[in-house]
Formats: sequence, C-alpha cells, structure tokens
Amino acid sequence: MPTFVGIDLGTTNSVVAARNAYGRPEVIANRDGRNITPSVIYFGSTPPAVGDEAKEWARLGNEQIASFFKPHMGSPLYRLRFDGRDYDATDLSALILGRLKEDAEAKLGSPVEHAVITVPAYFADAQRKATMEAGRLAGLDVRRIINEPTAAALAYGLQKSGVEETVLIYDLGGGTFDVTVARITPDEVAVLSTAGDRDLGGKDWDDLIATYLAEKFAADTGLDPLDDPVALNEVLTLAEQAKWTLSERTSARITIQIGQQRKSYELARAEFEVMTFALMDRTRRLTEEALEESGLTWKRLSGVLLVGGSTRMPMVRSYVKEMAGQDPRAGVNVDEVVALGAAIQAAIEAGEGADDARPRFTLGGKQPQYTLAGARKVVDVMSHSLGAVAVSPDGSSYVNDVIIRRNLPIPAEDRKVYLHETHGGRNEKLEIYLTQGESTRPLDCSVIGKYVFTGIRATDAEVRVDVAMSYDVNGVVQVHATQRDTGHALQMKVEAVPDDLSWLGLPPSFDPARAPADPTRIYLLMDVSASMAGTPLVEAQQAARAFLDKCDFTSTEVGLISFSDEVTLQAEATDNVRKVQAALARLEPDGTTNLSDAIELARQKLNRLDRTRYMVILTDGYPDAAESAAEQAARARGEGVEIVAIGMGDADLAYLRRLASTEEGSIFARQGELVGAFGHIARVIAEGGRSLRKLP
Ligand code: AMP
Repeated sequence: MPTFVGIDLGTTNSVVAARNAYGRPEVIANRDGRNITPSVIYFGSTPPAVGDEAKEWARLGNEQIASFFKPHMGSPLYRLRFDGRDYDATDLSALILGRLKEDAEAKLGSPVEHAVITVPAYFADAQRKATMEAGRLAGLDVRRIINEPTAAALAYGLQKSGVEETVLIYDLGGGTFDVTVARITPDEVAVLSTAGDRDLGGKDWDDLIATYLAEKFAADTGLDPLDDPVALNEVLTLAEQAKWTLSERTSARITIQIGQQRKSYELARAEFEVMTFALMDRTRRLTEEALEESGLTWKRLSGVLLVGGSTRMPMVRSYVKEMAGQDPRAGVNVDEVVALGAAIQAAIEAGEGADDARPRFTLGGKQPQYTLAGARKVVDVMSHSLGAVAVSPDGSSYVNDVIIRRNLPIPAEDRKVYLHETHGGRNEKLEIYLTQGESTRPLDCSVIGKYVFTGIRATDAEVRVDVAMSYDVNGVVQVHATQRDTGHALQMKVEAVPDDLSWLGLPPSFDPARAPADPTRIYLLMDVSASMAGTPLVEAQQAARAFLDKCDFTSTEVGLISFSDEVTLQAEATDNVRKVQAALARLEPDGTTNLSDAIELARQKLNRLDRTRYMVILTDGYPDAAESAAEQAARARGEGVEIVAIGMGDADLAYLRRLASTEEGSIFARQGELVGAFGHIARVIAEGGRSLRKLP
C-alpha cells in the first residue's frame, strides 16, 4: 500500500507518482484520468477548482485565477486576494498538493500520508521551508525535499550493469531553467554542479510569439491585444499552441479573433528559432557555466538527460546534439521524469531498498532504453553559498563572508570564528544576518535570516565567537554560535529579517535617514549601437527582463529608450510590464552611441516631481559626444533624478562614474554578470534607493 508518494510540484504542471506493487515507480493519474495536473487554481467555485478546469477558466479570461506562483515561494511580498482572503505562494501550493493527495488517494484506494517533494536546485532556504510548509498544510508529512535534477538523475540514472556515468541534466520547464552535472554510480547519484534561472522557461517562448502576433494584429486592425487582458490571454494561449505545433511541424498557422476582427498568420519554425535565439542562448550560457564549475567538458559527458516540457522543442535537441556530439537520452517522458525520481526517493525513505529482491523496473515508453536497478543514496548539493554579514577587517564596510561554499554535497556543515566587542559587558548580544549568494557585497546576496545570540560573557574587550552553519539533507539551514574562550553555546532567537537592509550597502557607522517607499518612475536607457549585436544585446535583454520581474508594478512605472545614432522612445513609462517586455524584444542594434540625446529625452520623460525617478543607463562603449552626455546627466541629477550607469564590453568605468549619482551606482559588468548587476539595482530601487544616496 503506497502511502508514500513522490511529488513534482511544478511551476506550470504538477505530477504525483509512487512505487507500484511490482516495485516500479508509476505516475498516478488524476481524477480526470490525466498524468499531469496544471498548477492552476480557479477561485470562482467552492471549493476552488484545481488543474485542467482552472486552466480552462484562465484561458477564457477569468480573473479569479492563481498560476505561476512557484517562483514566489517563501516571498512575503507575493499575495493574491480571493473572496476576501489573502493567499501567499505557500497557501496556493498547499491547494495544489491537497488536490494531488486527494486524487492519489482516490486512485490508490488508501490514504497518502508521506511525501518527497522536489524543488529547483537553486531554491534557497526560505523557498524550501515554504515548500515543506505547503505540504504540511495539505496534510502531508514531507519526509524530504530533493532537487528536481537529482530526481531526474534518479529516474534516468538507475544504472545499466553498474557502469559509472557522468551526465548533464538540462531541465527547461514552463517557468524555470535548471542545469545540473551529476555522476551516477551503482550506489549514488552525486550532483557535481548546478546553474539555473528561475525566470526562464517555456512561458518566455510563448511571450515572444504572443508579442509578435499582437504587433501584427495591432498593425493590421488597430486593435492592440496587449491593451486588453482577455485578448492577451487568448493570444498567449494561441502562442503556446503554435509553439507545440512547431515542435512537430515546420510551420504553424494561428488565427486570432478579437471582436469582429479576425486575422490568420503563418509562423515558420525557422522564424520562431530566430525570434527566440536570445532565450536559447541564455540556456547555453548557463549550461556552459555548470560544465565549467564541474570541471568537465562536453566530451567527457556520457550523456545528456532532458527534463521538462520545453525540451520537446527541436531547438533544444539540436543544441544538445551539436554540443555533446550525440542525441540526448531517450525513453523517459520528460514531463514525468521528476515525479518518478521523487517516487524512487520516496521508496528509499520508506525503507524499501531498491536493491532488494524486487524485479528491476524500466521507465519510459514502448522501447525503454534504460533498465533501472535502484540507486540507494542521493548526494545532493546546494547551489547557493551560505554565509554571514560581517564587518570587514578594516571596519570600512559590511561584507558577505561565505561559510559553506556552494555545490558542496549536503548535508554540509562548517564554521568560522568572528571577533565580537563586548564593551565591558554592555554588549552581550550578537546579531547574525545569514546570506545566500556568492558576492562579497551583502546586497547582492539574499539575506535569509536574522539570528540574535545572547549571553556573551565579557571575558575580554574582544571575544571570539565560533559561528557554525549547516545545510541539512533538505537544504534547510541551521545556525549555532559558541563563545570560544568559555566554550558555552549562546542562546539563539530567530527574528524577522527587516525589510530595509539598505544599510548593508553603507559604511557600518552610517545611520540612514528613513525614506518612504515612494511611487517610482524608471527609464531604462539601452545602448543598441552596432557593437551590441549578438550576445551583448541578448544578455542585456535578459538582464532587463529579470529587472522587470523584480519591479513592483503596483508602485513603479518603467519606460524604455534605446539609443544608437537614433534615440527612440520604445515604451512610455507604464505599469503594464508586457508593454515594456514587448519593447525590449523589438530592439535591433545598429549605428553609433548617441547617449546625450537619450538622456535628454529621459529627462523630459522624468518630469513627474511626485515620483522618485531613476535613469538606468546600459552601454557597452564610449558615447559619441561624451562631454555633452555627461552634462545632460549632471542636469538630470540636478533635477533630482537618480542615475545608475551600467557598463559592459568596452565601456569605461571612470566615465560611468561621471554619469551616475553615486559610486555604487556605476557598475561594470563582465560577460555573464549583467543579470546579477541589474538584480542588485532592482533591489536597491525597491528599498528606496538609500544605498544610492551620496555618503556623507
Ligand atoms: P513543465 O514545467 O515541465 O510541465 O513544462 C511545461 C512547459 O512545457 C510549458 O511551457 C509548455 O508549453 C511546454 N511544452 C509542453 N509540450 C511542449 C511541446 N510539445 N513543445 C514545446 N513546448 C512544450
């Protein structure tokens, strides 16, 4: 009686699986007889409808819908209100899990109590805890959280006759991308490295098709589907269907009807591949990053495993074939593989060793290629380094001090010693801010916890405190502190992380004046000179999209200006994120760098004095009329506009400093760092821009 299930709680779809009576992991169909349950909830009925029915309501443009909430797991900012009740991503996930549990119980005819749930490898502590909490709310005892790619490795990887293999797992789902290098031996699946992007998935491919269709339709009829949420939904649905068609055929026909207007368009696969090149390129770069981190090359991989619905796109398969020199492994259903892996782990947790006398099981379609014998052990890693905020040795700044390096097998534990000033016993308290991230700048990391330790004895002016941190098998964090000279453990209290952390970007003695979070208007000024063509523009677009995702559009308007020889207002400042996304997708590089006129235009557009105003300039070179651009920037700053200048390629940091409001507001990003740089800026803006203020 399998009371222990494995659950793939996905961004777009969820799947539940369990070992059957023959020892085979098997997907449990839902009440509609389908293996996959869309992670969509419709609140227009009591109780709320989950799955296909909810997805259909969404398609019809109903607004009582919650979907795509998984990326917000653990976020205190994300809340949806239905029928007078607030739901965060954990509550919503609990509804999905509850539904999966109910359906599985109905199908199996016995209660389902325990579960293994999968999460993306880069889920941080808060997201993992939120996932466990969602399980608890759904009435499940969550015995273990495992990384999705690890689950996939388990499902694919139970070995053929004990051969050791090193594989790359390329997981492109609906909303997230995850890439992992893992070594699979007869005894264990060890993850060597991971990389990923929580904002990249099939939906981005849909968005580009939808934008393309909306623009055509608007040009032909004067009706812009982007202006109307119902029409936009319809176009997004058609876009996704066209994408599926393009996985089978070389061209797709799409008919859009809005009101009396009806138009048909033809989209060729080749055109689709050009249109979405930037997205594919981002997955390529992250894949290279994971490979590099593992110290391996394509040639040394034994194979590539595909996971996630979006890997059905031929562009993914041809990329893998080109790089790896072989076709990706076949025979496993890319939608089900993670849940099947979770079911294998569930069986291990339940104490059913896989190497017992049970029959060997096979996975996959009619011609399974792998006989899965049973891994006994999963060695997982966390893709975030864990550390603490400390004052730098010279006392000039706060730094992020990594304690457990990322990509070490978990459970993992390590400790560091810090100095604490006791002030003759007046300071018996120590606050530790826990970080996840790689940067030495605390604001570039996520601060995931505040631990207050008390009971420090003033044995000296400065005492040494050992801070120990650990990741348990679920990737959940523990912290302990001990006073070194007395050897006694300090008492600990966990406190909420304050919303305002901008002081971490200031010198430790600086006491920031409180500033309210104002309505904000931001103009992005993007360099589209010829030198941006290809990878730089692709990366810039990706970074800007990630930036948009982090903006709070309830209080923020964002506009887009591009500059080459010509300066173009691509999007007026708007709180409609899709308009800015569409404008970003349109950028075409050409010509030189007329930054000066771009800043002037932005100044005019930032004339709303009732708002906090920002210009975020991105450039890869030295502008045409550098002096005049610097003058324009000075004038804008004089008018109260905060300027952030980000350089890449041939940009000159000294010059960027002349444009930006502060030194922290001028950043040079090397290839691959741009997304992080923009993320930092989004965070600073969200926090009220205090760390961009001039320091005294
Ligand atoms: P997952 O999160 O793994 O369930 O993947 C869902 C994503 O896969 C969605 O963006 C789907 O549109 C996409 N998808 C499913 N089937 C196909 C297909 N045949 N071709 C392209 N994308 C697909």
